[in-house]
Amino acid sequence: MNRDWTLSAPCRGQNGFTPNEDEYSSEGALKRLCWPLLATCGPCPFRSECIATVKPSQARFDGIAGGRLWWGGIVVGALDDVCEDELTEPKLRASCGTEAGAKDHTRSGERPCPSCAQATREIAARRRNEKARQDRQAEQLQLDFATT
Ligand code: SF4
Ligand SMILES: [Zn+2]
Repeated sequence: MNRDWTLSAPCRGQNGFTPNEDEYSSEGALKRLCWPLLATCGPCPFRSECIATVKPSQARFDGIAGGRLWWGGIVVGALDDVCEDELTEPKLRASCGTEAGAKDHTRSGERPCPSCAQATREIAARRRNEKARQDRQAEQLQLDFATT
């Protein structure tokens, strides 16, 4: 792979993005250690390349890559402007097409696959509808009380 982009990355020459294991012993300690460095990824145009190179999920990576803070390969913090396109291609699993499948992608630092994205949209729409139905029911109850 062409690694020339690393020469222009904002973190070039900076330490602490992959801290030594003896520097932290918990997720909280890792966060305290790495959080101040996360802003360095803000202007970085190589977030996708960074994630594709580090392979945080596969490597069960602890540290900063691609504008995200990873703990055991799971995203535990991120810049506000990160987007799914920066993540790696989704692996298809038996769970795909369900909410659990979407969570499996997230846990693995992947973009959602189309069927998981669709499942997520449908679940969100169902939840919105159910919430609207409950709100209408609550309003109706209040009206009933008010008129009795
Ligand atoms: S996204 Fe990766 S390459 Fe870019 S600044 Fe952050 S850690 Fe460095
Ligand atoms: Zn999927």
